[in-house]
Parts: sequence; structure tokens; C-alpha cells
Amino acid sequence: MENCIFCKIINGEIPSFTVYEDDDFKAILDLSPATKGHTLVIPKEHSITLLDLSKDRAEKLLEITKKIVNGLKSVLNFSNYNIIQNNGKLAGQTVEHFHLHIIPRYSVEEITLWVPHENDPSVNNSLADEIRNAIK
Ligand code: AMP
Ligand code: ZN
Repeated sequence: MENCIFCKIINGEIPSFTVYEDDDFKAILDLSPATKGHTLVIPKEHSITLLDLSKDRAEKLLEITKKIVNGLKSVLNFSNYNIIQNNGKLAGQTVEHFHLHIIPRYSVEEITLWVPHENDPSVNNSLADEIRNAIK
């Protein structure tokens, strides 16, 4: 895709720090890391969100991610980490080419992912029914 920064990285038009590459995926160090070793796992095919990703790449994604996490753990001294994947602008997606973040965690203070809110259990009850019925 023209003007897609990750397609350009995959094609070698823009430099990156590659930590893993095969026919279908490339993993690079994030340019503005949340923590040391923050890595992006990027399928080479251009898709935007999780729902656009092909079945084949979706099926391979977690195994590739596990392999990369193991590599990161063997080099960097961490055992905890976050896997984050943003879909759409409201969710914080800034690069419109599907990617998954691996963020090593070294201390509790580094990043806040979300602020929990009070919940009404009765809302969840009917909501769960509605969603369960919608999932085919
Ligand atoms: P997201 O907000 O989920 O779309 O994440 C996009 C990520 O891509 C951000 O963490 C950026 O720091 C990172 N990023 C943007 N441009 C580059 C680049 N040229 N090389 C490496 N990481 C990048
Ligand atoms: Zn792209």
C-alpha cells in the first residue's frame, strides 16, 4: 500500500531495527518504546484491523508472537509483559497497518493501560445475553 509506513518498512524503503523476519511477518523495535525492547509484530500483508487480517496470518500470529517473546526474554531481564493491539483511532491506532505490541514490563509504574470504572452487574447480565446471542 502506498503511503503506508509499515509497508515501506517491510519493503525496505524505510529503515527499521528488525528482530525477526520470515515470509509472512516482520518484527521490529518500536521507534518510541514504552519500555526497553518494545517490539511490534507486523504481518507483511497490508490489513488495517484484526477483522481485516487473513485467516492464515491470524492463525500464525500467536505462535510467532510467542517465539519473539521468548527471544526478547532471553536477551532482556523481564518475565512480565503486555500484548496490546489497537484497532481504530478511538482505540489509539496511529499506524493503519495491523500490528501487535509486545511490551516488556520491568516495574509497575511504567505504563497505565486503563482506569477501571464502577460496574452495575445487572447491566452486564443483559449485555452478556445480547452479545452471546450475536456471536455466530
Ligand atoms: P499504534 O498506536 O498501535 O498504531 O502503534 C504504532 C506504533 O508504531 C507506535 O508505538 C509508534 O511508536 C510506532 N512507530 C511509528 N513509526 C515507526 C517506525 N518508523 N519504526 C518503528 N516504530 C514506529
Ligand atoms: Zn501497510
